[in-house]
Amino acid sequence: MSTRYAATPDEIAGLLAGWGEPGYRARQVWEGLYKRRAPLEELTNLPLALRRRLGEALPLALEQVHSSSADDGETTKWLWAAGGDGASIETVLMRYPARATVCVSTQAGCAMACSFCATGQAGFERHLTAGEVVEQVARAQHASPQRVGNVVFMGMGEPLANYDATWAAVERFHDDFGISARHITVSTVGVVPGMRRLARERLPVTLAVSLHAPDDALRSELVPLNRRYPLAEVLAAAREYLAASGRRLSFEYAMIGGVNDAPAQADALARLLRGFSPAAHVNLIPLNPTPGYGMPASPPRRVAAFAERLRQGGVGATVRRNRGTDIDAACGQLRTRHGAAKSSNLGAPVRMVQRRGGS
Ligand code: SAH
Repeated sequence: MSTRYAATPDEIAGLLAGWGEPGYRARQVWEGLYKRRAPLEELTNLPLALRRRLGEALPLALEQVHSSSADDGETTKWLWAAGGDGASIETVLMRYPARATVCVSTQAGCAMACSFCATGQAGFERHLTAGEVVEQVARAQHASPQRVGNVVFMGMGEPLANYDATWAAVERFHDDFGISARHITVSTVGVVPGMRRLARERLPVTLAVSLHAPDDALRSELVPLNRRYPLAEVLAAAREYLAASGRRLSFEYAMIGGVNDAPAQADALARLLRGFSPAAHVNLIPLNPTPGYGMPASPPRRVAAFAERLRQGGVGATVRRNRGTDIDAACGQLRTRHGAAKSSNLGAPVRMVQRRGGS
């Protein structure tokens, strides 16, 4: 059995035809779910009995375990239990005056083990399906008066380690929800084969590469995958993506006090990225402290100085305001506290791995 947002337009049409429904119903259902982005229960142009029947034939994939809000209700985080095994995953909605952004997870847990990331500290549980990724945006939209205009693959998991589901979800966001490719951002820790594959796809999505360090020694400590795909290879693949897509690249850099925030490191980063300019931009994210990593965030003044130094070195930089910190909805914090507790209740224990620098 398919789930509501895993079902393709053809599958929906086939189901309805099998029930002897008139041909126009398929379009009504699809338009209601994707163009209007309404919950099935609110598609009142369908007879009640049909809505009920569809609801049973196409159940939702995600059961809400918990939701919390911050920033005066502008940021909402959900913890879901995925159908079948109850794997716990999280989604964050960020509302702005005219539109909204949804941050989706692509895996329950993550195998990349970045030392400062809460998801990485918890280990890998399983890949999500495309339907589970698509449903996260649908469910967030149902809670948002603003239309979701941006999707960022910056929740739990490494999107390019779950390539097929990630790409299928990208296509659904673009083709069904009508979100433009530039407003879909895939963030990767540097899975080089995935980046190369992405460069050959038909939709030029925005690519964000998580760097966090200007040299291999430090990056390998923070991002273990760097031992397999060192900086030079990651940057070469990024260059390839830029050439193929024509899209400006983003580089993410978590600012960790006394670890990667020195002026000399800003200079080294500028030298590394200058060649991309002006087609690259660095987003500086002050570290969100996580339970398994002992280092502090860089103080605001140090972050500002680092940004200024990058600009002087010829590389654009923005300091990202961290939304949802107090509900653990900020970058890398997903599935701390509530999530970890819940997933063990659901019989899918979260491995807490001790890492270097861990407390
Ligand atoms: N696996 C993808 C998506 C991860 S989350 C990737 O690595 O890009 C999106 C961003 O949040 C990444 O840049 C990630 O490194 C960053 N991040 C993770 N934990 C963080 C933390 N504790 N503080 C600040 N940023 C963090």
